[in-house]
Amino acid sequence: MLASDQAVFAPETTLKEVFGFDAFRPGQRQAIDALLEGRDVVILAPTGGGKSLCYQIPAILKRRAGHGPTLVVSPLIALMNDQVEGLRARGVAASALHSAQDELLQREVVAHLITNKLDLLYVSPERMALASFRRLLGRAKPAAIAIDEAHCISQWGHDFRPEYLRLGELKGLLRIPTIALTATATGRVLDEIGSSLELQNHLLVRGNFARPNLRFVVRHIGKDADRIEALCEALERAGMRKQGTGRAIVYCSTRKKVETVAKTVKARGFAAGYYHAGRTDNARNQAHRSFDVGRARILVATNAFGMGVDHPDVRLIVHFQTPGSVEAYYQEAGRAGRDGLPAECLLLFGIADLVTQRFLNQKNTRSTTSNRRENLLAGIEAYARATRCRQQELTAYFGGEPMERCGRCDACTDLDGLTTHLNAVETAHANAKAKRFRPCDSPTAEEMETVVAAVTALKKPVGKSALAKALRGSMARTLKRGGLLNLDQHGELKAHTEPCLVDAIDTLIREGRLERRGDKYPTVWLKGRPVRPKKDGTLLRTARPGSDLRRALDSYRRREAKLLGWKRYMVFNNQALGLIIEQLPDSLWALGQIHGIGPAKVDRFGERIIEIVRRHAPA
Ligand code: ADP
Repeated sequence: MLASDQAVFAPETTLKEVFGFDAFRPGQRQAIDALLEGRDVVILAPTGGGKSLCYQIPAILKRRAGHGPTLVVSPLIALMNDQVEGLRARGVAASALHSAQDELLQREVVAHLITNKLDLLYVSPERMALASFRRLLGRAKPAAIAIDEAHCISQWGHDFRPEYLRLGELKGLLRIPTIALTATATGRVLDEIGSSLELQNHLLVRGNFARPNLRFVVRHIGKDADRIEALCEALERAGMRKQGTGRAIVYCSTRKKVETVAKTVKARGFAAGYYHAGRTDNARNQAHRSFDVGRARILVATNAFGMGVDHPDVRLIVHFQTPGSVEAYYQEAGRAGRDGLPAECLLLFGIADLVTQRFLNQKNTRSTTSNRRENLLAGIEAYARATRCRQQELTAYFGGEPMERCGRCDACTDLDGLTTHLNAVETAHANAKAKRFRPCDSPTAEEMETVVAAVTALKKPVGKSALAKALRGSMARTLKRGGLLNLDQHGELKAHTEPCLVDAIDTLIREGRLERRGDKYPTVWLKGRPVRPKKDGTLLRTARPGSDLRRALDSYRRREAKLLGWKRYMVFNNQALGLIIEQLPDSLWALGQIHGIGPAKVDRFGERIIEIVRRHAPA
């Protein structure tokens, strides 16, 4: 090879020439070298950590050396399109092949694939499984495969996609190196990625989840007026009032909140714009531009703002409302301080934010299950309530290398426990207020669980309004029939009106936790629970409420919740508890079949639950 060739084939040259960056981030070069040497690689690094370059640079270099394209398996068409667009803008020959393209375009892409005109081809896992596509690959002779969002391979992960399971077949078929990329994976998921993809002696690169220049702070504040004060203080601290450099982004969960916060901040004398998907293209572009050129250095926005935003000098990110997951939080907060200079990430937390997230989730169900959403919410709540170093919490959450205390966050600098104390006081204050003033039309998550628990304890289906009446504590004689007067939950929700409880029951039906039975006299019942009285009129092997098993499960649940800093229903909810008592699972598999007990819960609590069932099940 000539000296000039060596330069052309050097990863550093490609990094500079194609991507415009001067230096690799830790771990990138290691991963690139391993892939170029033909080794399998697994990369665990945070979103925005620079994983993509680890297969894109080898893909470009391999093609320059005369090899075929690199195949990239990606779970979402939107992700594929983003990547392809970004690469093409840099002169890289990238394409995607997916079902949203018309036939003509698909044919064109296939022609480019088999005539070796592509550096990278993005495809879905489903397409990878097609025999016809595999035949094409025989002709295209790809140089490597990259599997994005590789944790989808694991049934124990958050986003299991069964189609990912067949990707391992490619190893034997194509005999080319594989690189798997993920931002979240426990040890067990990492093992599964390795075995399912049939990786051989792979290199594991753990990216750095720590952001030493960022100061993470959480404040527990319920009331908007107090949040505005905290926000304005933070803006002031970050020098956002005066002329100067640096920017701030304020994230809110809803469009309405974006508008009111932007208006208030402006009224307080700050130059702020606002951005959300409900504005016209023109208004959005103007807000974006003002922020870009520094006319309005503060932008109040929903999560619609951010993809591809790469301002290095964001000095402050405030989450005016808590987002729905640590993943979303870290991705948005991670936009601060890209230039390596000090920056602050302030998260405002209140229980009402979790309720808002549940409401938004109901409107936008997509493919995420309600269990998964609850887990994600439990994660962000646990983060907000944590008392150890915030960066240690984040690193541990994402499975990165353990790290020293950051020495910057509120938990680290709060040596005399002042912040923790303030957060506790603020939470108690907000909770007390919420109790006094809670509008009767919004049952909390725990109250929703009470509704489910009541249905779980029923012997037969009952009408919605009868159930609502019983929950409000009505002593009407008609309620005697369904055993409604004897429920433990009788009168527990008397703070709510009957229509509001009927609404809550409807919500649970929509969520699939309860089901409607019968048309003429519709009743509600526990989803999936058989109504099968034995000849003697009792339900099959059902332990009575208050039984040993119920008590043992409940106290186990309370202990775990306390240990994890979770709510009890996050360990497992009352509906699942009722089903465990009813079905008496005797194996992890049987437990996993119970609605509300996903693989992650089986993994975490399964063995102990089975043991409790064995010990306390009614004879
Ligand atoms: P991931 O795939 O891990 O979510 P990306 O590969 O999309 O992250 O990278 C996130 C951002 O970091 C992108 O804007 C990318 O261009 C940038 N980036 C990646 N590597 C480097 C580097 N070595 N130097 C500077 N910026 C980088």
